[in-house]
Amino acid sequence: MFGFTSWRRKRIAKRSFPQEWESILSENVSYIQHLPGGLQKKLKELITIFLNETNFEGCAGLEITDKIRVSIAAQACILILGTDDYSFVYNDLRSVLVYPKPYVAKIKNRNNSFFVEEGFQQRHGEAWSRGTIVLAWDQVQNGARDIHDGQNLVFHEFAHQLDYEYGATSQVEDEYEESQFLSWARVVGDEYQQFVSDLQRNRETLLDSYGATNLAEFFAVITECFFERPTELKNQHPKLYHQLSEFYRQDPETYIKS
Ligand SMILES: [Zn+2]
Repeated sequence: MFGFTSWRRKRIAKRSFPQEWESILSENVSYIQHLPGGLQKKLKELITIFLNETNFEGCAGLEITDKIRVSIAAQACILILGTDDYSFVYNDLRSVLVYPKPYVAKIKNRNNSFFVEEGFQQRHGEAWSRGTIVLAWDQVQNGARDIHDGQNLVFHEFAHQLDYEYGATSQVEDEYEESQFLSWARVVGDEYQQFVSDLQRNRETLLDSYGATNLAEFFAVITECFFERPTELKNQHPKLYHQLSEFYRQDPETYIKS
């Protein structure tokens, strides 16, 4: 049984990439035009596998089209271009739910053991640890349009999915105290603390302030910045850039010029 998934995926990856999907990519996901040729080819293989394995569901009356599926799959797979074979293509992900625009979620806050406060919150997207990602389609399109602003909803939510699958931030929480100066846990933990302190002192930051919410959001926000503003990230946070390039096994600074 071992290796069966990779074997099956290799066969699927060889399928020809439909011309209609090519047009969707060139019209909707301009990031791809910046990738070197070899990575463009690999991305198309990953998209084919991703779409073969992931269920899409339209919510609030949205009808799922190839434009929606291919645009989301392409951006999700940019994050995993560093994978050397087909053994990892979001293995724990099952479904992507897509709303036409930001949706309202019911939330509960437990103030103390007796009172639970209920409220409503508008959301652009979320990733559940059980293998579901929720996205607002208009926000997916906004994120894809400007590839240099460091804001990309698909990168953000799929970074959460990678975090669930690889334990990127739980490693920081568990190993920060004992970790080495140049390790993942030490660098990400130090950068997070520095970032929170910069915001408290009203210093200007490259990263979106939403990243200060917690370590998981910090990881999602640095991922957006790593892929969309790599030069600034490398100049201002070289150790963090280095750790992310090891994590993703990619060096976007070489092809994304701001
Ligand atoms: Zn998030």
